[in-house]
Amino acid sequence: MRPYPINSVSVVIPVYNEEQSLPELLRRTEAACAQLTTPYEILLVDDGSRDASADMLEAAAARPGSPVVAVILNRNYGQHAAIMAGFEQSTGDLVITLDADLQNPPEEIPRLVAQARLGYDVVATVRNNRQDSALRRWPSRLINKAVQRSTGVAMNDYGCMLRAYRRTVVDAMLACRERSTFIPILANSFARHTTEILVEHAEREHGDSKYSPMRLVNLMFDLVTCMTTTPLRLLSIVGFGMAFLGIVFAVILLLLRLMFGAPWAGNGSFVLFAVLFVFTGGQFIGMGLLGEYLGRMYSDVRARPRFFIEKVLRAAPAPQASAEETSSSTKVVS
Ligand code: UDP
Ligand code: MG
Repeated sequence: MRPYPINSVSVVIPVYNEEQSLPELLRRTEAACAQLTTPYEILLVDDGSRDASADMLEAAAARPGSPVVAVILNRNYGQHAAIMAGFEQSTGDLVITLDADLQNPPEEIPRLVAQARLGYDVVATVRNNRQDSALRRWPSRLINKAVQRSTGVAMNDYGCMLRAYRRTVVDAMLACRERSTFIPILANSFARHTTEILVEHAEREHGDSKYSPMRLVNLMFDLVTCMTTTPLRLLSIVGFGMAFLGIVFAVILLLLRLMFGAPWAGNGSFVLFAVLFVFTGGQFIGMGLLGEYLGRMYSDVRARPRFFIEKVLRAAPAPQASAEETSSSTKVVS
């Protein structure tokens, strides 16, 4: 891992009906960024708020010399789409995301930058003493487990959006054409070195969570489909399991029928169950097959970059007789 020089920092914050939090958010974020030794910009993306948020952002961006960049979307696209919009407008070598509700303290920004300087592509955070209701906590614990198992990237907290991403990772994410996405997981697929730091987590002071149970379910599906098409394969597995059970059942029935006679077997009515199992299994296998095609189509439609080249190292041409040849032995193209 090599140190990463950071010459500018962008902070991206999605905002949806957060007029009560905005003044404090702006004040604290600007104060935290002022401690950085590098130039910075604070991109606030209004995700179609119906309150005064957009006007407040425009006013903040209009102040002379303001580091605030207001990105106004025409309607509500969801948190992750809003962050993507912010990514697209960002210019920094390092991009930090943050929630607008002040649950993630902006004061941690300098620490994230310091970690990224060490050479981490993604700096994530783990919430210390998480301040959410149990109803909100349990689903995300489940998600963390599932992600860990299916991506192999061990991170403890995918719900905490206070994160820093290196420019190359941000550009790679922007190259993904899919509409529903879950940024922390997408980022992991383009990162080589990741780390997690412990941060404080506060209770939401103003307003309620912008995620209703239905939207939370939607987010969970985004998360699952973003990392894997395994659920589609599950159909085939279930199908094979059922068909197998049906066949085993039929064999057992046949044996018992031979041993105990027709009356024991309900005069054949049990056989129906065995037949049913086999057919239902067959149907599932068929659906699973469709799923396999669908999964492949989905990944083609997403058109994610097939691979992500971090850098190419190539030996410079062997020194010629000519005098103007440079002395470096390797050339780095990134
Ligand atoms: N958010 C957004 N668009 C949405 C929903 C949420 O931009 O459709 C923003 C919201 O303003 C906040 C962040 O995403 O800055 C996280 O939302 P929230 O705090 O409601 O989520 P929770 O903390 O409950 O997961
Ligand atoms: Mg929140």
